[in-house]
Amino acid sequence: MINQERLVDTFLELVQIDSPSGEEDAIREDLIVRFQALGLDTGVDDFGNLIAHWDEGKGEPFLLSGHMDTVEPGRDIKPVIRDGVIYSDGTTILGSDDKSGIAIILEVIQTIQEQNLPHPPIEVAISVQEERGLEGARHLDISRLKAKYGLVLDSGGEPGKITCSGPSLDKFLVTLRGRAAHAGLRPEAGIDALAMAAEALTRMPLGRVDEETTCNMGAIEGGSARNAVPAEVKLFGEARSRDNTKLALLSAIIVSALERTAARWGGEAIIDLDHAYAAYRLPDDAPIIQAVVKANEELGYEPVLREGGGGTDGNHYNAAGIQTVTISSGQMDVHTVDEHISIEDFVGCAEVALKAVMNLAG
Ligand SMILES: [Zn+2]
Repeated sequence: MINQERLVDTFLELVQIDSPSGEEDAIREDLIVRFQALGLDTGVDDFGNLIAHWDEGKGEPFLLSGHMDTVEPGRDIKPVIRDGVIYSDGTTILGSDDKSGIAIILEVIQTIQEQNLPHPPIEVAISVQEERGLEGARHLDISRLKAKYGLVLDSGGEPGKITCSGPSLDKFLVTLRGRAAHAGLRPEAGIDALAMAAEALTRMPLGRVDEETTCNMGAIEGGSARNAVPAEVKLFGEARSRDNTKLALLSAIIVSALERTAARWGGEAIIDLDHAYAAYRLPDDAPIIQAVVKANEELGYEPVLREGGGGTDGNHYNAAGIQTVTISSGQMDVHTVDEHISIEDFVGCAEVALKAVMNLAG
């Protein structure tokens, strides 16, 4: 059903438009032209996300989503095809994360139109700054979407993989403030922020907290000189869980450990806690999962329901009440110069997406 040549051509064109996170203007302009050519109404929200609507169709509105930004090294990408697999020239990423997802969305809509296939009304959201921690989807003007169900085309591997859950993420930027003093002459006049940080770290659960919860203080920065009592230390950390209640509890423990330690030392803890995104888990009988499972079975792929290891834009869509799963777009070894995509997988993933959309036509 899918036009393989057109899908691949679209992909090759998209990856040659530079789009590092925060520099998405050129790719967004290109995509607006493409979606308008397919008759969709396009708009851009205040954050720069592209939202397009195709109101025709029967059933509940359906969201197709991907992201337009890419990681570095991602400029001047030169795709090459070898033995049915698309690679970069080895000096950059390929950009299949997530230009493959976008190419699939365009191809699905075009195939439906050409072959007059049954479909629900379709909404498209192509986010910016996904690679900076889902920032685009986080700030996306959700009032522009009416979708009940959605697919995020942004994960790896062969067709069949369906990600039905995603962990939450809290991000910490902590400033521990003590007081500087000459370390040799008057150490007692100082308050040692570095020692404060060390003590606070012993009071929080780090690493794997339980099977679905983790905590990491990943970077530390502070102090000024060998002979000065360190007046200020910054900690950069995160906590994740598949369970939002557990995450709230863990973050509260971390905050308390920092505040109590700072108080004991007579210092201060300034804590910037960012609830980046919430966890979600869809039940196996959710209509979107059923539609994707059926799509895979119809195409002869074995559907595999799996837990997401990290957040995707789907976290934000689910939080907004759009039942969304993330499926593979074929991308492999992303965020490396070895990134590649097998054309066979790519086409298979596009067919799964197309069938899933058709399965939710009213
Ligand atoms: Zn991605």
